[in-house]
Amino acid sequence: MDGIDSEFTFELAVCQWAERAWTPQRAGDAVVVARQLGTKRRRWDTIVVECDPDGLRRRASFGPDAFDTDLLHVLRSAPAEWTYYRDALPEPGYPWRYVREAIHAAADRAAVETRKRGNRIEIRRRALYPDWFNRIVAIENKPDLDASAARDLVPQLQRDVALGLADEVWVATAATGEAVEPVLLTDMPAEAGVLTVDTDAGTAEQLWQPRTLSTDDPGTRILERPADGASAARFEYADTDWKREKRLAVAERAYERGWRAYASTMRPDCRHFGLDRADSGVFPYCDAKGCRPTQTECRGSCPSFEPEPPAWRSKGWPIEGGPGAAIKRLLADRRRRHRPGLAER
Ligand code: SF4
Repeated sequence: MDGIDSEFTFELAVCQWAERAWTPQRAGDAVVVARQLGTKRRRWDTIVVECDPDGLRRRASFGPDAFDTDLLHVLRSAPAEWTYYRDALPEPGYPWRYVREAIHAAADRAAVETRKRGNRIEIRRRALYPDWFNRIVAIENKPDLDASAARDLVPQLQRDVALGLADEVWVATAATGEAVEPVLLTDMPAEAGVLTVDTDAGTAEQLWQPRTLSTDDPGTRILERPADGASAARFEYADTDWKREKRLAVAERAYERGWRAYASTMRPDCRHFGLDRADSGVFPYCDAKGCRPTQTECRGSCPSFEPEPPAWRSKGWPIEGGPGAAIKRLLADRRRRHRPGLAER
């Protein structure tokens, strides 16, 4: 493999392949790719959000940051004309004071307008919050899918399939070039798709097509599945409203974070940090260690960490910062390019 020596770098390779080459189900859809997000209970490695291009552009008018569920509740029901907020918004199922807080937070971000009439807060939308995405695809990355990795992965995929929060679930593994890829010999659920990724060439092959999951139907949350095969499993139901809300929250976070957010947790301000450009994409690179570091090792506690010398920052410093700040700006700029309409804001 081309310097792919950790799950982290494999994940970056998969994200970059997906951004370049993912084929959405609807012709003409755009994709937004993100990594390491999901729900409180389940975090997916790579997320591909297939988006209506016009909706995606209209989403940009609400800014680059994600809206959480409370703010989305306000945004999606905000009326075109000034209306008392309790008449405009659906019954929240929790105290109205939290709704008022969400209204003020949305107004602070210029997502809705507010005014006071007597002691009543009225709201009005600035723009209609669009239906901007069509599908969510979850990819689990396992570069070395040996038998023990497969054993750990299968229950997670079974949970994903039963819940049906994503439209499709995939496993991505590194292509081995063997006559029969080992992943096909594992006991993956038939509903999950299988991708083999050539990390040297930056290409991928779809070895097994997934089944489209029923995101509009209630899902089943598997709480416990005893390994003995004799005891009863524990389940609970996830209703369609919960699923709709969670899908939107996941898409919103994917929009904000993308997959380049690693720059904010690693140390691009270390003098040894750089970017390594390969056919399969761009990866963080450490000169001191001569490798692509993981997020876990590239931290302030790294024994080889050395801050950028102040002279490197001298030109535009402190406004422009040094090379580390330039790398962060470059990655943020690339993310914006995949969010049409944001650059014009
Ligand atoms: S020396 Fe440590 S902190 Fe600096 S780039 Fe390498 S891994 Fe990151």
